[in-house]
Amino acid sequence: CFDELHGSLGDCSCNVDTIDYFNNVKVFPRLQSLVRKDYFRFYKVNLKKECPFWADDSKCAMRYCHIKTCSKESVPGYENGYENDHLDETPVTKYTKEAQGNCGTDADHDHDLGYLNMTISAASQHEIAKWKAYDDALENFCGYDDKDVDAEYVDLLLNPERFTGYKGPSANRIWKSIYQENCFRPKPNPYSSFPFVMTSDLGNMCLEKRVFYRAISGLHTSINVHLCSKYLLFEKGAGFTTDGEWGPNLEEFQRRFDPSQTFGEGPNWLKNLYFVYLLEMRALAKAGPYLEKEEYYTGNPTEDEETRQAIHNLLSVIYSFPDHFNESSMFNGGSQAAKLKVEFREHFRNISRIMDCVGCDKCKLWGKLQTQGLGTALKILFSSKWNSPEPDPNQGKLPVRHKSHERLQRTEVVALFNAFSRLSESIRQLEQFRVMLRSLNEKP
Ligand code: FAD
Repeated sequence: CFDELHGSLGDCSCNVDTIDYFNNVKVFPRLQSLVRKDYFRFYKVNLKKECPFWADDSKCAMRYCHIKTCSKESVPGYENGYENDHLDETPVTKYTKEAQGNCGTDADHDHDLGYLNMTISAASQHEIAKWKAYDDALENFCGYDDKDVDAEYVDLLLNPERFTGYKGPSANRIWKSIYQENCFRPKPNPYSSFPFVMTSDLGNMCLEKRVFYRAISGLHTSINVHLCSKYLLFEKGAGFTTDGEWGPNLEEFQRRFDPSQTFGEGPNWLKNLYFVYLLEMRALAKAGPYLEKEEYYTGNPTEDEETRQAIHNLLSVIYSFPDHFNESSMFNGGSQAAKLKVEFREHFRNISRIMDCVGCDKCKLWGKLQTQGLGTALKILFSSKWNSPEPDPNQGKLPVRHKSHERLQRTEVVALFNAFSRLSESIRQLEQFRVMLRSLNEKP
């Protein structure tokens, strides 16, 4: 499959070999150390949400499907208001409160002329908060469940994404529902016996629909590359002390991606991995100025400073990439384009909901995290809020609180970087399979 994995990616001006070098040498090592920082390591997620589409599948019985959750107390900074983004403690908020306090002594109002009554009743404020939440939600590409009562913190380092044994009708139903009901589909090809989408049919679709399919397919590729490269090679010990030995399984990789075993699609699916990588990288570059101003608060000033430095360092590398994905050519063309954008968002939200139907907790954890990360990237690329620089309401008189707090929730930032890190690691793992194949072919 590597013979066909060269040159142009299509739908962008980039090529595979440039990304290989850039990712493996520059991005991957930086991301690896970044996602080990406490801020990125703990992810709050509700894994108990009911599947909204069909009755629950029987849960995966393999012990490798299960995940370990953390107590709140074990999450660094939790007791210091970590969850509330400790916004009330920022100097800017304090300053604003003081300024508002002074307003009460101002006797200079003409109560009849020109006085604008800005009082809002508590009930209306409540309503407005609901409108805001509604409007914000419209811009989102997926729902958030970190505020759910059932949401729990998960230590991602303790629950690595790898082979779990989840397969069969349950896994198949998820992917089938994603491709057949929630992706945009080309007209079915009457001559093809292939059950999913043929890349050759995508040419009949518009760019936006193609981008959607390629992003989902790239995510699918990434998940499958991970399970091939951290495959359960054998088990050692017995009873409760049983543990697995994990490593790359070249045969499994070839079964999934070799053209002769995938109706010729394997190399296209691998290209889609590079494609979604580019898409997420562009989102990081676009949101870079905001991301650089985040506090990355965990309560440990040294660690937080290191995280900010690591973010700055990674983003500097990302800015230097020569061929970023160009989202400006998408959704142009009046009301039709606006309608398409709504459809695009709805389809993606449905896919994020389908993740609650995954019948293996560990797969669900990483499936939810990666769809949330991709959803955040799509929001950055396509929501109008991210298109113009935020005006400074204080016109330079007060320190500006970083607007990124209002734009991205903590959970989105964590998902965005972790999702990108998954893609980056998959691309790195392809190199490992390339080397294995080469040495296999060189054997006499
Ligand atoms: P599947 O991967 O189930 O694919 C179904 C069909 O989709 C294939 O027959 C093919 O026609 C088509 N297809 C395959 N790849 C692509 C692609 N990249 N683009 C487009 N079409 C494609 N298993 C684990 O071991 N560990 C995990 O962490 C894990 N996480 C998962 C997360 C989610 C959200 C889901 C739905 C599944 C997860 N799985 C995981 C299961 C894994 O993805 C496979 O479904 C499973 O290994 C069975 O593989 P399969 O050969 O039947 O093909």
